[in-house]
Amino acid sequence: MADLNLVLMGPPGAGKGTQAERLVDDFDLPYFATGDILRAAVVEESDLGKEAKSYMDEGDLVPDDIICRVIMERLDSGEAQDGFLLDGFPRTAGQAETLQQALDKRSRRLTAALLIEVEDDEVVRRLSGRRICKKNGHVYHLEFDPPKNPDACDQDGSRLIQRDDDKEETVRKRLEVYHDQTEPLVGFYEDRGLLRRFDGERPQDDVNGHIRATLATLRLEAEL
Ligand code: ADP
Ligand code: ADP
Repeated sequence: MADLNLVLMGPPGAGKGTQAERLVDDFDLPYFATGDILRAAVVEESDLGKEAKSYMDEGDLVPDDIICRVIMERLDSGEAQDGFLLDGFPRTAGQAETLQQALDKRSRRLTAALLIEVEDDEVVRRLSGRRICKKNGHVYHLEFDPPKNPDACDQDGSRLIQRDDDKEETVRKRLEVYHDQTEPLVGFYEDRGLLRRFDGERPQDDVNGHIRATLATLRLEAEL
């Protein structure tokens, strides 16, 4: 089957992780979420975690060289050999260029950039109610996608927590960073004919249906 090499874009809280969780099994896509990788590194107190923590706490981006290193290791690990879904990368023009060059060098190309669009006020509503499970990062929302038990993950029973950077003040900062540094990538991918837009304000199932239909078409096109 043809490889799907995908990036998932959108502001914090757009529903990237929620959608990815539902897509990776069905489309058999290796999934790399830079936020999850960095949070795991912070918990482990590895060198990467120590380097990244202060930026994450402030709602700032981790420097390009650090995060590009992380992604290049994944691309070369063999895990991404038959396609990938990147979530949260690239987030700057420098990262997008690095990814493009890395793929060119490996004679691969991006299949599409999937953009989930959500307005700022909705982002704030979503992130204030977001809860994630401590063990595997499964995502819930107290109002929009409530767990059966408010303190425990439906899937693995581990404790549900609020991310430190989901406080309103840090969310506003992250939105500013998104508009400033990441949104310009929409034009970058549009110019290359790779952008696919999704209305992220629709219910989760609708967004999922739209993305699935697009991926099915992209896979068919790639096989032609
Ligand atoms: P969200 O799910 O809210 O979009 P993430 O979990 O993707 O947020 O990212 C959390 C934090 O990790 C970011 O605020 C940033 O500090 C850091 N981070 C994640 N991905 C990147 C990246 N590609 N470049 C720089 N920093 C990143
Ligand atoms: P991202 O990975 O883009 O930061 P998440 O997938 O973590 O976003 O979703 C942010 C919050 O919004 C979570 O609490 C999630 O349950 C909720 N959410 C995701 N998609 C929707 C949707 N379509 N409608 C309402 N809430 C949603």
